[in-house]
Amino acid sequence: PKTPASSNVAPRIPPYKRLLGKLKEVYKVFGKKTQLTLAEKILYSHLDNVEESLLSNTHNGKEVRGNATLKLKPDRVAMQDASAQMALLQFMSCGLPSTAVPTSIHCDHMIVGERGADVDLPASITGNKEVFDFLESAAKKYGIEFWPPGAGIIHQTVLENYAAPGLMMLGTDSHTPNAGGLGAIAIGVGGADAVDAMVDAPWELKAPRVLGVKLEGQLSGWAAPKDIIMMLAGLLTVRGGTGFILEYFGPGVDTLSCTGMSTVCNMGEYNRAEVGATTSIFPFTESMKPYLRSTHRLDLLQKASSYAAIGGKGPQLLRADPEAVYDEVVTIDLSSLEPHINGPFTPDLSTPLSQFKNAVKVNEWPESFGAGLIGSCTNSSYQDMTRAEDLVKQASAAGLEPKADFFITPGSEQIRATLARDSTLETFSSAGGIVLANACGPCIGQWKRTDGVSKGETNAIFSSYNRNFKGRNDGNPATMNFLASPEIVTAMSYAGSTTFNPLTDTIPTPSGDPFQFSPPSGLDLPSAGFAQGNPNFAPTPGIPSPDHPVIISPSSDRLAVLEPFAPFPAGELEGLRVLYKVKGQCTTDTISAAGPWLKYKGHLPNISANTLIGAVNAETGDTNVAYDHFDLAESGEPPKSGIPQLAEKWKNQGKEWMVVAESNYGEGSAREHAALQPRYLGGRVILAKSFARIHETNLKKQGIVPLVFENESDYETVRAGDVVSTVGLFDMLKNGGKGDVSLKVGKGEQVIKVKHTISKDQAGFILAGSALNLLAKKEGS
Ligand code: SF4
Repeated sequence: PKTPASSNVAPRIPPYKRLLGKLKEVYKVFGKKTQLTLAEKILYSHLDNVEESLLSNTHNGKEVRGNATLKLKPDRVAMQDASAQMALLQFMSCGLPSTAVPTSIHCDHMIVGERGADVDLPASITGNKEVFDFLESAAKKYGIEFWPPGAGIIHQTVLENYAAPGLMMLGTDSHTPNAGGLGAIAIGVGGADAVDAMVDAPWELKAPRVLGVKLEGQLSGWAAPKDIIMMLAGLLTVRGGTGFILEYFGPGVDTLSCTGMSTVCNMGEYNRAEVGATTSIFPFTESMKPYLRSTHRLDLLQKASSYAAIGGKGPQLLRADPEAVYDEVVTIDLSSLEPHINGPFTPDLSTPLSQFKNAVKVNEWPESFGAGLIGSCTNSSYQDMTRAEDLVKQASAAGLEPKADFFITPGSEQIRATLARDSTLETFSSAGGIVLANACGPCIGQWKRTDGVSKGETNAIFSSYNRNFKGRNDGNPATMNFLASPEIVTAMSYAGSTTFNPLTDTIPTPSGDPFQFSPPSGLDLPSAGFAQGNPNFAPTPGIPSPDHPVIISPSSDRLAVLEPFAPFPAGELEGLRVLYKVKGQCTTDTISAAGPWLKYKGHLPNISANTLIGAVNAETGDTNVAYDHFDLAESGEPPKSGIPQLAEKWKNQGKEWMVVAESNYGEGSAREHAALQPRYLGGRVILAKSFARIHETNLKKQGIVPLVFENESDYETVRAGDVVSTVGLFDMLKNGGKGDVSLKVGKGEQVIKVKHTISKDQAGFILAGSALNLLAKKEGS
């Protein structure tokens, strides 16, 4: 049975009473006079054990930010269809009957954009049927709300249904911070982290620093909320925004719409390996109230308002303390902010519109562009779309048509149906615009371009999306994607020229008269409220059905049930073979490449065929060329193969192996495949000069031992083809992470000292074979 999108089948109101109680404990640890930022209040009120976390790695609760390890209990999890596959497979392996916190799945990343929603959506559903069937069946079994293909993009759907002031949620997508526009702490994570929350294990985060962004004045004319974050992206790159939560405050905050604040937060994700994950947040403001009302959440509005009103001498949950101290403050005057255009190839190359024409000339960027794309999870609000509509109406009245192809992506069925009811989509279609499905489409490479641009051909496009890395939209690394507000993208699409400035320049009309746009105007919210849309796009209720079968075809090449990893052997590791010695940078992309491999995210054996294929051989300088020193040919030479092929060969022979690497091994992302794959292929130890923190944790969760050279020069000692045995490792694990460990290399003549950061909990994961094994064991006992 389907339920209306606004139904309250799982709790959608944060547990304010409990959070306030926790916040009081926080003040007890810090002292009553402490002044906290809003981000700290929401994060710390979600601590599993307040005292234990805030005093960890700190001097009696001093300098918590940047030091303390927070063990958090989020309220909710949201997953998109690509990353949900492995997260669900891992969740299934621990044998729980349902998720511990309300969870939702959103089918958005696998829908292609080409000719329009009516044609594209059915074709994509057919092409990905087995994945959608799996996700839906697992959702039904475990009580997860399942939003089918066409229902909308994860972040827009979350904003309309789940985001709430004071909420803390995890999302398996980088732009999860979008929900900060409604006062939530929402953090983008990898699937394994989401599983922590789903199984009720505390989720760890190094306490972030807080960067205050003070907004003054008020936007006007062409300037849009998008321009705040576009300008800030450029500024923070220069100043270094690493490892902060961005918290907005100041009088300008009260002038912004709720959806505008979400756009700002959407692009405020500064995922950095150093801190793990950070986010952006706005305080509970007056403009959030009409948004909650028009999205049919009166109960939440009432509760949040009553908690926001609780003040006096007690702590205030939903806003920062008046004297809250930020680690740094950036001030932006909205009144003088001008539109910005960011790109190409990176979202933080920021150019004010007035200087863009010159930048095009100086950098020899293309002077014409082929497509303008508006909408997506970042910019498809009623405000965005009605302001773009106003510009289209102005141009149509002057007899103009867009010169570039013009695509519109609604972020959800709710916003699509509302824009259809209010004739906004009709305005776009009549002008030649193509309305795509309520899904990611061209934003994530699911775009079949039909304008004849061939791969490798330099060209430009404009979009109101949030990222513009090479090949991101159409798979063509030579396509330059310039990001701008929907208003600027729409107006420029009528000129088809990258040097056109809609604020000052004119376009010739068919009658010969020059036409100049007036500044756009629109409505923050629909006066008749939001329409519910097609009931077929409503979610399934989050009620577990333990007998519901999970659909995975045994012959599928895209999905495979995860088999639990074997526990750690009862003793020291002997005869561990060195598979490969990596030279230089080794990111999670090096270890588990993306692109065409994404198709196999739910099939560990198949995706493992990409393991370390980007790694450079320290001894030969080749990439992905490994040698089997244990299977010498008649000539005495070791046969060579790809790294995953050799790993698999050894796996089949029952031989475990290790990798030697340099600094910051596993930097780049939280991708759990980079830990799962080596483990699946028989990897037992990674020995590096240093690790990226998140990846190091992921390795331990999957039962791989990350070890660090005590003397970096010992990197030279170990070579591919060496045999290594451990000394003290097993005892250290048995002693909960305590004790010295060293490695004997070769026949034992060389002993190298190693360090580790394995905690008591993590030692338990490794001994059990993985964190999920340990959990399954506890559940079963
Ligand atoms: Fe990510 Fe783009 Fe989809 Fe948003 S629309 S969730 S940025 S792929």
